[in-house]
Amino acid sequence: MALLHHTCSVPLASAIRSRALTISSRAAVTFPSVKKLPHADSHVLLGMSELELQQLAADLGQEKYRGKQLHHLLYKRKVKDIEDFSNLPQAFRSNLRDAGWRVGRSPVHHAVTSADGTVKLEDNRLVETVGIPVKDDKGSARLTACVSSQVGCPLRCSFCATGKGGFSRNLQRHEIIEQVLAIEELFQQRVTNVVFMGMGEPMLNLKAVLEAHQCLNKDVQIGQRMMTISTVGVPNTIKKLASHKLQSTLAVSLHAPNQKLRETIVPSAKSYPLHAIMKDCTDYFQETSRRVTFEYTLLAGVNDTVEHAIELAELLHEWGRGYHVNLIPFNPIEGSEYRRPYRKAVAAFEAALESHKITASVRQTRGLDASAACGQLRNEFQKSPLVPDNSDSSQPQPDIPLLC
Ligand code: SAH
Repeated sequence: MALLHHTCSVPLASAIRSRALTISSRAAVTFPSVKKLPHADSHVLLGMSELELQQLAADLGQEKYRGKQLHHLLYKRKVKDIEDFSNLPQAFRSNLRDAGWRVGRSPVHHAVTSADGTVKLEDNRLVETVGIPVKDDKGSARLTACVSSQVGCPLRCSFCATGKGGFSRNLQRHEIIEQVLAIEELFQQRVTNVVFMGMGEPMLNLKAVLEAHQCLNKDVQIGQRMMTISTVGVPNTIKKLASHKLQSTLAVSLHAPNQKLRETIVPSAKSYPLHAIMKDCTDYFQETSRRVTFEYTLLAGVNDTVEHAIELAELLHEWGRGYHVNLIPFNPIEGSEYRRPYRKAVAAFEAALESHKITASVRQTRGLDASAACGQLRNEFQKSPLVPDNSDSSQPQPDIPLLC
């Protein structure tokens, strides 16, 4: 159950207040830490397709339509416990439990509301999910879930709190899916958009991310175009993703217009040079007809001058047309010497891109004081850095060197 702390709420213009909980603008959810790595998904219902659930019902001696009922219970009624599958025969429920099946939902532990209406939910220490309700240009309500793909992150981008907290393990597919369901429950509203921009590097956990993506699309019924996968770049994975021909957006976190500067900001850049990333992004467009979006965190005095903007525009023109840049003013994190750029610098950077025919948008910062803004997701309960949990060799480990 969510424990909600509310502070004074001064919502941004576009923020919506949720009725029941006076939650507005943004919420972060944290799920319980799994002390030892859970075994494979094999006995978790969440994440299974209708066909797989029908097969399971048949395997347990039930009519196939029971599988359809299971699907409805999991994804429409969002029931969290087999015990509460009240329209299924008791014998079937017992069979499921006896065979070791479980739904795969974790209790949400904690919630914090920021002064701008941000809500943050946390458990013992691990993954956090952010819910961001906004009204779009046409006035309709959107609810975006910003989901985590790993417990911590091994890539250690120099300005990101998650990376500073270390890395423990990949999330399993149901652990990604349940974050979306938890946000729906908290806001009492359907999630319309999903961004893989929470803790972790999605491309280091691509299998689970793709499975979760498929389930969110087919079973939870979130349109592919409403989902974005964000990566700082992991060699060979953009190609792999392209082969799935998703209609979702791929966002690549650049943060610098040249390799030299990028290496100082993003340590993993050493193993994946900028020109190789740009080539893969161009190929991605050719393969999927979906243009990659670029993210650029603006760090005062480091990468935020007009000259940097012009260099970035030139880089993008060199590799294609019609690219869009999403600018993210640095969200301060503990122990970092980086500074947030002045509004004037952000506006000048954006204007320089636009005047060089690169469309740009500035990501509205919300949730700063609940540490739920971009890059701030790091569990307050986690006092010491995470270490990789290698106790289960079935968990894929990152396949690029852990730098710094
Ligand atoms: N690993 C993925 C998702 C991470 S978070 C990636 O790197 O793309 C999503 C975005 O937030 C990334 O662009 C990331 O660089 C940015 N970000 C991280 N920390 C930040 C901070 N403190 N301030 C602003 N943006 C940040």
